[in-house]
Amino acid sequence: MMKKTLLYILLLGLPLTGNQYITAQELSYQQKISLLDKKNQALSFDSDLKLSGAESVLDKKLFQLRKEFLSETEKQKVPLYNSSFNQIKPLIENSKLFDIIRSMPKGGLLHTHSGGITDAKWIIETARKYKESYIYVQKDNDQYIFGQMAFFAKDKVPAGFVNLDEKLSSDHGFEKQLQELLILKRDQLCNYTDYWIEFEKRFKRTGSLLSYRPFFKAYYLKGFQDLIKDNVQHVEIRFIFDQLYDFEHGKYSLNTSITDLQDILKEIHKTAPQFTLKLIYSSFKFLDSKGVDQQLEAAFQLKKEFPDMITGFDLVADEAAGNSIYSFHESWMKLNSLSKKYGVDMPLFLHAGESNSVFNKNVLDLTLLNNKRIGHGLNLIYFPKTMELIKKQNKLVEVSPISNQILGYVSDMRNHPARVLLSNGVQCSINSDDPGVYGYEGLSYDFWVAFVYWELDVKALKKLVYNSINYSSLNEKEKKEAILYLDKQWIDFVTQMNQKLN
Ligand SMILES: [Zn+2]
Repeated sequence: MMKKTLLYILLLGLPLTGNQYITAQELSYQQKISLLDKKNQALSFDSDLKLSGAESVLDKKLFQLRKEFLSETEKQKVPLYNSSFNQIKPLIENSKLFDIIRSMPKGGLLHTHSGGITDAKWIIETARKYKESYIYVQKDNDQYIFGQMAFFAKDKVPAGFVNLDEKLSSDHGFEKQLQELLILKRDQLCNYTDYWIEFEKRFKRTGSLLSYRPFFKAYYLKGFQDLIKDNVQHVEIRFIFDQLYDFEHGKYSLNTSITDLQDILKEIHKTAPQFTLKLIYSSFKFLDSKGVDQQLEAAFQLKKEFPDMITGFDLVADEAAGNSIYSFHESWMKLNSLSKKYGVDMPLFLHAGESNSVFNKNVLDLTLLNNKRIGHGLNLIYFPKTMELIKKQNKLVEVSPISNQILGYVSDMRNHPARVLLSNGVQCSINSDDPGVYGYEGLSYDFWVAFVYWELDVKALKKLVYNSINYSSLNEKEKKEAILYLDKQWIDFVTQMNQKLN
């Protein structure tokens, strides 16, 4: 008993000796609770961080702002917890908290996809400027779907396509209709939607635009500018390689995508020298193992040529419809020999556990593979031993809250599984997955959702932001520079916000 009391004193400081209203029994109960509270906090993903005086001041201010926001929505009877992202988007944009989160440095966006980065409105506006851009305006068939856009030489336009600019100019309601066809919304949480079918249709409608080289260049320039505007300094794209083409030259080799991106980066660096980019070679879960073997081979070839640009490999698509990660185990076993053959390594960054089902065991494989980060990991919380291993192996989960709601995995954002991961000490980062398809730009909306619905504090925000650089695939030198930049941005942010919020 003596030992125990001593332990409490060491952990909690001296008991309230002067308080004669608390009996010995109550005091010990209070101390037990306090100890338990501390033990829980020590398990949290951000327990190693200690806030500076200025950060603690900001923390109190943000706590107060969120409290005011929540009591105001309560007063207005806004069903905050039963609303979709689309329904509360205007509310987010008008909140003071959103301004603050927008100006917060966010480090890196570690999980986004080629084809999902830039907004629909810009895509339409830009595509119509090319006289070779066409749109399919007939009923879906095996080859094309309504609203699918593509570039064609004038004498090679397939039946069912009409010139995009002419269509938009002659049919005034069409632009809005097309925007709706490019954005996936979950208008009501209780409506039925075949999410993945609708989701993939969005990519099909714009997919062909992206292989047209002039459009490709404009698209990524816009995408990077959006991120920089939102205070994102680094991005890693799950990149589906396709041969670029134009009408003068025809098809280019796969390398051209990378060299063009490097040129765009040079352009970006004129005004934002801190901005960095890495590509994760991505293919599809619906391939068979032979197909995955070929894709791995192609990824190694490209990485050998561009070791600083390609940092890893992933397989995407609906996990419920695609093959399991396990089904490709023979391909994964070849990674070591491929590394030797090409002289580069190929870490995996697999999407896994984007599911609510315990029958999807994709997260189990990750503990056995050289898999640095996990895309989504929503059902990881149902496999406690795996969760413990992921934590021990220090692998990060890339969380995309808005994407998860829109694709139907989470409804009330307060119940997002990432909260369980964070409180159990699994490292996470905040991501936007496919903001263009979800009708927004940047990373601030996802941070807003996490801050408000998960009751985060400044310590958690800071840890999430720093995780996005610390767990990035930047090399050691690049990481060091990125952290130096982020440190300065973070201090400036805290100082400026404390001055602004009085
Ligand atoms: Zn994804």
